[in-house]
Amino acid sequence: MINLPEEFLERMRGELVGEYEAFIKSYDRPAEKGVRVNALKIAPEEFLKLAPVATDGAVEWERCGFYANGEGIGKTVFHAAGLYYVQEPSAMSAVPKLEVKAGERVLDLCAAPGGKTTQIAAYMGGNGILVANEIDFRRYTVLKSNVERMGARNVAVTCQSPENLARYYKNYFDKILVDAPCSGEGMFKKEESAVREWSLKNVLSCAARQAKILESAHEMLAGGGRMVYSTCTFSPEEDERQIENFLKLHPEYKLTETKKLLPHRVRGEGHFYAVFDKPEGGRAEDFHQIFTEKQRKNELNLQDFGVNPTGFKNVVKLGESLYSLVDNFPAELKAGVKLGEYKNGRFEPAHALAMCLRPEEVTGVKVDDKTALGYLRGLTFDCAAPNGWRVVTIKGYPLGWCKVVNGTAKNHLPKGLRI
Ligand code: SAM
Repeated sequence: MINLPEEFLERMRGELVGEYEAFIKSYDRPAEKGVRVNALKIAPEEFLKLAPVATDGAVEWERCGFYANGEGIGKTVFHAAGLYYVQEPSAMSAVPKLEVKAGERVLDLCAAPGGKTTQIAAYMGGNGILVANEIDFRRYTVLKSNVERMGARNVAVTCQSPENLARYYKNYFDKILVDAPCSGEGMFKKEESAVREWSLKNVLSCAARQAKILESAHEMLAGGGRMVYSTCTFSPEEDERQIENFLKLHPEYKLTETKKLLPHRVRGEGHFYAVFDKPEGGRAEDFHQIFTEKQRKNELNLQDFGVNPTGFKNVVKLGESLYSLVDNFPAELKAGVKLGEYKNGRFEPAHALAMCLRPEEVTGVKVDDKTALGYLRGLTFDCAAPNGWRVVTIKGYPLGWCKVVNGTAKNHLPKGLRI
C-alpha cells in the first residue's frame, strides 16, 4: 500500500466511523481507469464494436463512460482521432448534474486538461456556447489541444483568472462548473505528487482559494442558472464546509444535491460534487456580434480539400485566419472552429477543421493501422490520391492533414501532437 500521511489517516478515521477499515483496504486495489466515448464523433454502441480499448463494464453515472483496462489506452490511433477521452470514472459524475441543454451558455471555470469540458461539449452537441477557462497558461494549451482533438465546434478556450472573467460575464451563464483546484486526496492512488504535497496547511489554503473562485462563479451565474461545484478530495473544509460557507453568504441558492464518491463504496476514486440552483433573476443580454463586409467575404471552397462540412455558420476572416464562429459571442474570443490560415495568399487548412469532421463529411485518404501510427509519428507515406490537401482518416475518422504531392503524402500533423 502507498504510504499515506499520518495526519490524513487520522482525519479520515474521524470522518469515516465504521467504514474506515473498508476505506483503507480500497488502497490495496489499483486505481480504476475509464474512457468516455466522444458522442460528438461516435455512438457508444459503434465504439464498442470498433473495440479500440478493452472495456470492462459501463460507468453507472455517465451514459458514455466505460471502465477500461490494459496499458496504453491513451496511445491508440482512435484516441488520437478523438473517439474517446481517458477519464477517471468518478470524475465523470459531476457533469451530468449540470443538465446542460442545447443552446445554453455554459462555463467550465477551472477546465484543464479538459476531461469535463469535452464531456460538457458532448452533451451540448455543438449548440450554444461553452467557455472553457484555465488560469495556468501551460495547462491552457493542453486544454485547447484536447478540445480540438475531441472536435467540439462551439467552444471558446480562455486563459483568465476567475476574477477577470467575472468582470465581463456578470449574470451571463446558464450553467457553471467549478471543478476546483484541491488537495487531491481522492487521487492519492494515481498521483504521487498529491501524497507528497499533502498537509493540513495546504488543505486550508485550497479551501480559501476555492471560496474565492466560487464568489466569481456566483457573479457570472444568471438568475435561474445552475452551478455544480466539484473536487477530487475528501476534506470537509473543501467539500461540506465549503458549501455550507457558500450558502451562508448566499442563502438564496437552493442546494439540490451533494454526493461524495468514496473508493470503498463505488467503482472509482474519490470525488465530491454539490449542485446549486440560483433563483430566477437577471440574465445578461446576448453579446452583439458585428462582422464587417470584409470579414465576411471569402471565396473558399472547402470541397477542394475533400471536405463537405454541414452547419458551419458565421464564416469570417480575422487577421489572416478563417473561422466558423458561434452566434452572439464576441468574435475576438474565437468561439468555434479555426478553418485555416492564409499564408502568402494560399489557404492552409487548420488541424481543428480536420478534427471536427464526421466521417460522412470527409473524402480523405484512408489509411490502415500501421500507416496511421506512422502518420502520428510524423512520417510521410505513399498515396495514390490527387495532389492537394487531404484529410488522413482511420476507419473514416480524421487524424489530421497531409499534402499529397505526386504520389507522396507529406505529413502536416502539428509537431506538438506527434508521438
Ligand atoms: N476540470 C478539469 C478536467 O476535468 O480535466 C480538471 C481541473 S483541475 C481539478 C483544477 C484546475 O484549476 C487546474 O487546471 C488548475 O490549474 C486550475 N486553477 C488553479 N488555481 C486556480 C485559480 N485560482 N482559479 C481558477 N483555476 C485555478
